[in-house]
Amino acid sequence: MSEFSSPRIASAHEHEADALGASAEDRRALERLLDELGRLPGVGPKSAQRIAYHLLSAPDEEALRLSKAIADVKRLVHFCPICNSYATGEVCEICGSPSRDRTTICVVGEPKDVSAIERTHAYHGLYHVLGGVISPRDGVGPDDLHIVGLLSRLASGEVGEVILATNPDVEGEVTATYLARQLKPLGVEVTRLASGLPVGGDLEYADEVTLGRAIEARRSL
Ligand SMILES: [Zn+2]
Repeated sequence: MSEFSSPRIASAHEHEADALGASAEDRRALERLLDELGRLPGVGPKSAQRIAYHLLSAPDEEALRLSKAIADVKRLVHFCPICNSYATGEVCEICGSPSRDRTTICVVGEPKDVSAIERTHAYHGLYHVLGGVISPRDGVGPDDLHIVGLLSRLASGEVGEVILATNPDVEGEVTATYLARQLKPLGVEVTRLASGLPVGGDLEYADEVTLGRAIEARRSL
């Protein structure tokens, strides 16, 4: 908790630290942890407190395992320079695999969508992660996404089909429509996942059978 934070929240944290019998120094450590946890997406002050209490009461090894996992992921994992998904080697496992079909690229919003599609075992081509979707509400435009990289991957002429697999929600549809307009003049076949996915849903939460069928039954745009 920085000295610029709301005094009301600061005193609430202090009160909890006191309840744990923490010294002044410990209290700052706990506030720092609450502050860092509270910055994580989807973690509000209540959840931050729950996680902090869990870590405090957990065996040292368990808490240190978490801190080591965070340090390791920052040291070892980076974004693949070809597809922008996660990679531990020079390029990700999929881009580096000789057994993948290099004539098809499946375009998704986030790296977690690659995992969702891989779980279906219905797709054997390559991926391209945009790093988000077009969303005027959140101030995200086409220039904020990895679109130039996608276009340059098509320049070799090896790729015959691009599957637009952004989520079936408003932003995902807007992004797919924008990309289709950019890609079609390049003479590449552009397809979209078949309907059947829950509208407004998230690929990540689609069951594997539904998502697998949506890939197999994809339609031309
Ligand atoms: Zn890659």
